[in-house]
Amino acid sequence: MQWRIKLEATTGWGEVIEYEVGQLERSFLTATIEDFGLALQESKDILHQLQATMVESQMLEFNAASQLCTACYALRPVKDWRQRKIQTLFGTVEVRVPRLKLCRCCNPNGFCTIAFSVADDFLPNRCTPELERIQAELGARLTFREAAKVLSSLLPASPANHTTIRNRLAHVGSALAENDHKAVGMSRETANDDVRQPGKPITVFLDGAHIRAVPGHQSRTLDVMVGKVETEGGTPRRFGFAMKGADGPSSLLRAALQEQGWTPGTSVTVISDGEVTLPLLVKAATQEPITPILDWWHLSIRVRHIEQ
Ligand SMILES: [Zn+2]
Repeated sequence: MQWRIKLEATTGWGEVIEYEVGQLERSFLTATIEDFGLALQESKDILHQLQATMVESQMLEFNAASQLCTACYALRPVKDWRQRKIQTLFGTVEVRVPRLKLCRCCNPNGFCTIAFSVADDFLPNRCTPELERIQAELGARLTFREAAKVLSSLLPASPANHTTIRNRLAHVGSALAENDHKAVGMSRETANDDVRQPGKPITVFLDGAHIRAVPGHQSRTLDVMVGKVETEGGTPRRFGFAMKGADGPSSLLRAALQEQGWTPGTSVTVISDGEVTLPLLVKAATQEPITPILDWWHLSIRVRHIEQ
């Protein structure tokens, strides 16, 4: 038996284009149980081919649209074409992108010879955000080598070694830290003119951990704090930082509280492991009284001590 997998694309201007994505074949005479249905490698090949076909056809449309001058709608002249590789969760795809020259309406005498590529602004890292996010998430949960192995064993993802995974995680981490610092900046700007009514009661869950270095590798150890800020009916906001490296932990915490609708006068309950510095950090962030509560797990540990 034979199967042909086809993809039919309809462009924005109504043109229908048919692409062949793959072929499959099985002989019923020699079939074993392994020949029924798609095998992992076949599914990876088809996904990769589907991705390549889809991106290639999208790029054709994108390139045609990017050639249009946004001021006079005439076609901008193409200086040359360049090959670009885009890394995706379903494999690396190669596309052709034009380097454009300025339109005559912006450059009537043709003095300016600068060439630019709209696609390069569109994909600055040459990697889809989805691939970066999944690599970073797996890199945070597993060792970098394991993360690379898990991805490549299940998906036709662009090849990644442990260094790529580490760099992608660092890139996502830096972006999150930058967002936190922006939030801190905004919270400082609104600190003096915040005269809103107290918001809904807020609960802050906090826990700290001491991370020891692997013996024989590095001598550095560090204390980290992770937590969650919750309001009733809202999506929780999670945060985490290393106490030594954080630039103003109470400012980061205050920004996280404000994102959840905290305003002066809001009731704040802190649930933590009984370590006194944790509720004090929240108190420093709000500059107001808070209600500290020992969490159930640490409460049960203390009760067990008394029982024994
Ligand atoms: Zn123009």
